[in-house]
Amino acid sequence: MNATIDRDSIKFSDAKLIVGLEVHVQLKTDSKLFCGCSTKFGSDPNTQTCPVCTGMPGTLPVLNQKALALSIKTGLALNCEIARYTKWDRKNYFYPDLPKGYQISQFDKPVCGEGFVEVKVPKSDQPSRKIRLERAHLEEDAGKSIHDESGKGGVSRIDLNRTGTPLLEIVTKPNIRSAEEAKAFLTELKQILEYIAVSDCNMQEGSLRCDANVNLHFEIDGETIATPIVEIKNLNSFRAAERAITHESKRQFKQWKKSGESIHDAPKQTRGWDDSAQCTTPQREKEESADYRYFPDPDLIAVIITDEEIETAKNSLGELPASLRTTLQSEYGLNEYDSAVIVSAGRKMVDYFRALADGSGKDGKPNGKMASNWVGQEIMRYLNEHNATIEDYPVSAETLADLLSRIVGGEVDQTRGKEVLAEMLSSGCDVQSAFDKLGIVKVDSGDLDALCQQLIDENPAVIEEIKGGKLKAVGSLIGKARQINPNVNPGVLREAILKIIGI
Ligand SMILES: [Zn+2]
Repeated sequence: MNATIDRDSIKFSDAKLIVGLEVHVQLKTDSKLFCGCSTKFGSDPNTQTCPVCTGMPGTLPVLNQKALALSIKTGLALNCEIARYTKWDRKNYFYPDLPKGYQISQFDKPVCGEGFVEVKVPKSDQPSRKIRLERAHLEEDAGKSIHDESGKGGVSRIDLNRTGTPLLEIVTKPNIRSAEEAKAFLTELKQILEYIAVSDCNMQEGSLRCDANVNLHFEIDGETIATPIVEIKNLNSFRAAERAITHESKRQFKQWKKSGESIHDAPKQTRGWDDSAQCTTPQREKEESADYRYFPDPDLIAVIITDEEIETAKNSLGELPASLRTTLQSEYGLNEYDSAVIVSAGRKMVDYFRALADGSGKDGKPNGKMASNWVGQEIMRYLNEHNATIEDYPVSAETLADLLSRIVGGEVDQTRGKEVLAEMLSSGCDVQSAFDKLGIVKVDSGDLDALCQQLIDENPAVIEEIKGGKLKAVGSLIGKARQINPNVNPGVLREAILKIIGI
C-alpha cells in the first residue's frame, strides 16, 4: 500500500461501499435433494433421516427432479442463463452436523449462470438499478448442532432432519452500493420467490438465509485501495442485513483510519451479526474454496437440461412482481407506491384488487384509485388486525365491487359505505341486506329539496356566510342534515343547497 497517503484527510463519505450477497433459499419440495426423507419443519430430532442422508457407507444419492425444476424456474425469474449441462461436486469439510464429511454442491457448472434483479430503493429518488447475479447453484443443507446454553456445561446434540434439504444458493456480484439497496434487493428477491412459489421464504424456519460480503473502496491518486472483505453471517432478517452492513462499513472505515490495513495485507474475514448488541463480532477465518478440496461427485451423473424443461418452467412462471406493478400503474392508474403495496401483499391480493377495480368500474374503465384506497385502508387493516391473508377475507371482490358501484352511483356515501362493509363483515350478508338492516334508502329529490329548505330557513347566519364567499361553511349544514336524515349524500346535498341559494 502507498505509504504516503494521508489517511486523516479521508472522510467516510469518500468511501465507496461494496456489497455482495449470498442467499440460501430452501426449495419447496416434499422430500430431500438426494433421498426420499421428508423436509417437513418442526418434527422431533432425527425422525426424518435415512442411510443416504446420514451418509452410511454403500448408499447412493438419487436426484430429486422437482428440486431441479424449481431451480430452473427460479433462474428464469431472475433473468439467469440456464445451464444445458450441470454437474455435482463434493465440498469437503469436517463439522459434527455433516455426517458424510462433505456436502453435495455445484462448483464449476452451476444450474443457473449470470442474471439480474431490477431493484428500486423505496422512498428514494434514485432510479431502479440492475443488481447483477453471479450464479445460483443447488446444494444440500447440513444438519443442526443443538448446544446446551444453560451455562451448566451440558452436552451438545445433533439433529440431522435438515441434512440433505435442497437449497438454492443465489450469489450476487459485488455490485450492491448501500445497505438500503441490499435490503431492497432481498425484499424484491423474496417477493419473486413467493410469486413463483419455489420457496416459502420463512426466515424464522431457516428457509431463507443470507450472508453479506462487505468492504470499502477508496480512490486515492488514481489508485483503488480496498479494505479486507468481511463476510457477515447470521443475518436473520432483512432489517438485520441492513443494519449489519451499515455497522460493518463504519467499523471498517475506523479500522482503516487506524491501521491502514488493506485487502493486500489481510485475508477475507468472517464476522457474525449480534442483533441484541447491534454490532458485528469476529468468527472463524473463512475458508477459501481451495480449502474445501472440491471434486466431482463420482456417485452422481451430470444433468443435461433440455429446451423442453426450460419451456415448461417458463410457462409456469406467471406474471412477475415488477411487471404486475407496471400493469397496475398503466391499466389502473395507480401510483408507484400504491401499486407496490398491493403487489407486495401477494398474487391473490393482486387478483382481488383487479376484480374489485374491474367490477366497480364504469363504461369499461376500471375504478382503480377507489379500489386501491379500499384495499389499502379497509382490507389491509382488517387483515392486519386478524392476522389473516386475502384468501380469508369474508367479503368477496364481487360483493365489495357492488358496494363501490353504489357509492360511485350516489346511492350511499363513503362514510355510510364503510358502515355497510362493517355490517357485511360481521353478519356475512350481501350489500342489499346490509342496506336494509342499516335503513339505507336513496333520498328522493322531493325529500332532498324539503330538507335543504329547512336548513336554509333554520340557519340564516350560515347562509349569509356562504353567500359572502365562505363556501366551507356548507360543511356545518351537512352535519345538521345528517342528524335529520342519515341517508342524505353530502356531495349531493352540498350541490342542492348551493343551487337553491343561487351560487
Ligand atoms: Zn434421507
